[in-house]
Amino acid sequence: MTSERFPHLFSPLTIRGVTLKNRILSTGHETALVDRGRLGDAFLAYHEARARGGAGLIISEVASVHPSGIFVRDPIPVYTDDCIPDYRRLAKMLHGHGAAFFAQLFHPGREIVETFDGSAPVSYAPSASPNERFHIMPRPMPLDLIEAVIAGYVAAAARMEEAGADGVEIVASHGYLPAQFLNPRVNQREDAYGGSAENRLRFLSEAASGIRARVGDGFVVGLRISAEERSHEGLGQDEVLEACAALAQEGALDYYSVVAGSSASLLGSTHIVPPMIYEAGYTAPFGAAMRARVDRPIIVTGRINQPQIAEQILERGQADVCGMTRAMICDPEMANKARAGRVDDIRACIGCNQACVGHFLAGYPISCIQHPETGRELEFGARGPAPRAKRVMVVGGGPAGMKAAAVAAERGHQVTLHEAGPQLGGQVLLAQLLPTRTEFGGVVPNLVREMELAGVEVKRNSRVDRAAIERAAPDAVILATGALPRRPPFEGEDAAHVVDAWQVLRNEANVGQSVVVADWRCDWVGIGIAEKLAEEGCRVRLACNGTVPGQVVQQYIRDTGVGRLHKLGVEIIPYTRLYGADEDSVYLEHTTSGEPVICEEVETLVLCQGHVADATLEDDLRALGLEFHMAGDCLAPRTAEEAVLEGLRAGVAV
Ligand code: SF4
Repeated sequence: MTSERFPHLFSPLTIRGVTLKNRILSTGHETALVDRGRLGDAFLAYHEARARGGAGLIISEVASVHPSGIFVRDPIPVYTDDCIPDYRRLAKMLHGHGAAFFAQLFHPGREIVETFDGSAPVSYAPSASPNERFHIMPRPMPLDLIEAVIAGYVAAAARMEEAGADGVEIVASHGYLPAQFLNPRVNQREDAYGGSAENRLRFLSEAASGIRARVGDGFVVGLRISAEERSHEGLGQDEVLEACAALAQEGALDYYSVVAGSSASLLGSTHIVPPMIYEAGYTAPFGAAMRARVDRPIIVTGRINQPQIAEQILERGQADVCGMTRAMICDPEMANKARAGRVDDIRACIGCNQACVGHFLAGYPISCIQHPETGRELEFGARGPAPRAKRVMVVGGGPAGMKAAAVAAERGHQVTLHEAGPQLGGQVLLAQLLPTRTEFGGVVPNLVREMELAGVEVKRNSRVDRAAIERAAPDAVILATGALPRRPPFEGEDAAHVVDAWQVLRNEANVGQSVVVADWRCDWVGIGIAEKLAEEGCRVRLACNGTVPGQVVQQYIRDTGVGRLHKLGVEIIPYTRLYGADEDSVYLEHTTSGEPVICEEVETLVLCQGHVADATLEDDLRALGLEFHMAGDCLAPRTAEEAVLEGLRAGVAV
C-alpha cells in the first residue's frame, strides 16, 4: 500500500526473492533482551511491537558465528543448531505481521565490549593490532581459525534459512572483524589474507560466496559496512567503495547497508548510534556514493528519525531503504502513523541516546526516555481501561506530569493538568537551551500531543495549593512538581559572585570574563554551561566532581561534548569538590587526595550542583487522605527518563 504523502517510503521493494512492503527498516541493534543466549518472550514482544507498527523489514541483532567471537556477556550463539527454534519463532511472528526478516551474522574480532565473567578472553584479529577504545591487544588469527570462522558464517546462514529467515546480513561495519581484514592499518598479515587489496578482501569474499553457494536462490545475503569509519586508523570512503565495488563484481551480495563510524575509537564509536549533534540523515551522501559503485539495493542508516527525512532520501535516490531504528524504538507505530498521514502523532526520536544505546552500554535492556514501554512490552503492552473513571488532578506540567496525565486520560479518567508557569515542559525548557541540545526540546511537543490525543484538560499559570485541591475535590492527585536548583553551603559564599546553571541558561547572569563551573552532578549541564560560556568568550575552568565531565551521561554524548570543550580551550579539573570561594578565587578539594586545588582570577562561580526535590504538597495530600501518586523529580531529582517512566507508572496505577 502506498501513502500519498510518502510515495517512495511506502512503495514495495523486491530484494532477490524477498518483497518488502515498504522501505522502513529496523536495523540490527542490541536490545540486551537476550536471555542466556535465548530469544525469549521479552525479545519477541519487543520486535513484535515494531512489526505490528508497520516496519517493512526487521533485522535481528548481532549473533556470534563462532565461539571466538563473543563480544557481550549474553550473546546469541548461532554456531550451533540450538538457535534454530528461537529464530523460527521469531521469523513466524514477524511474517505474521507482514514484515520481512533478516538475521545479522557477526564476529567482533578485537572489539570486545564485555565478557562473561569479567576476565578478559583472548580476542582474535587479523594481526596483533591494538584496539584503542577497549584497550585490547588481540592475538593474530591462525589460518585454521580464519577458515573455521568463515565456515561459521556459512553454517549460521544455513541455520537461519532453516529457521525461516528471509536472509542474512554479514556485519562488516564499525570496525568489526571483516572490516579489520579490509583495513591495511589493522591487518598486517603477510599471507593470503593480508597485504594487497585483493588479499584483504578475501575473508569477506569467501564468507559471502560461501553463504551464497550454500543457501537457496531466493535467500538474501546482504552486507553492512561503514562507508567511512571516521577514526584515526579507520577505513576511508575510497577504500570502502573500492572493496564493495570488487565484491559487487563477484555477485554474491544482494544489498549493501551503509552506516558510518567504528567501534575502535571514542570518536568513531559516536557514529554507531549518532547523537543529536549529527544532523538528521547525515549518512545519506554515503548511500549515494555507494549506489554509484554497486548495482544492488542500498540501505542507509543514521539519524533518519522522521518519515519526511526518509522520503527525501529515497526521492533523491540516495538509498532504496532507510534504517529508522530509533524512530521505532521511540514510536513503534511510526510506520503505520506515517502511512495513515498521521505525521503529527509520531513521537519523534530526539537522538539523546540515553535509554536505547545508553542502556545497552550500561548492561540494561533497551528502552526510550520518551517511550518507556519500549523494552517493557510484557509489562505495559496491553493497557486496558481503568475499572472506574475518576477525576484526576495532575500537578506539574513537566515530563512526569504530562506522561501521567496522558496515560491516565487514555485509560478513561477525566484528567486536568495544572502547570504553575505559562509553558509546559519543566526542566526540558532549560535543557533545550544547552548548546547542541536544542532537539531535546522535542520531548515537549511529543508529550503535549499525547495529552491532546488522550483528551487531557491543561491549565497553565495554575499554581496548586492545598486550598485549590480541596476546592477541586478530585478522586486522585498525581504530584509531579519537579525540583529546584540545589545550592549547598560553602565557605565564603556571601563574598563571591555566585550564580546557578539555570540563571546562566536564562541569560539572567552577568558572569564576566573568567568563571569556574563547579559541576557536582557530571551530567549534560556542566558540559553545556562550560561550552556556552566558552563560546561567549569566557575563560572557563570546569571543576567536575567525577573523573570526567559528563561521567553519568551516555558515552557518545559525553565524548563529543568533551571534544568540543577541548576545542574551545576549557580547562577541565576532575576529582574536585567545591570547598569555598571569595571575591576572586574558588577553593576546591581533591576528592581522593584531599589536597586543596585553588583557582585564582575568578569573576564568577557557576554552580551546577544538581537539584532538590519540590514536594511541598505531599504532606497536604497525606493530611487530606486523598489517593495520590508521585512521579519524577519531586520524588528524587533524576532525569527526564525516570520522570516519563514514573509518569507512565502513575498513569497506570491511578
Ligand atoms: Fe531516541 Fe533518546 Fe529514545 Fe533513544 S532514548 S530512541 S535516542 S529518544
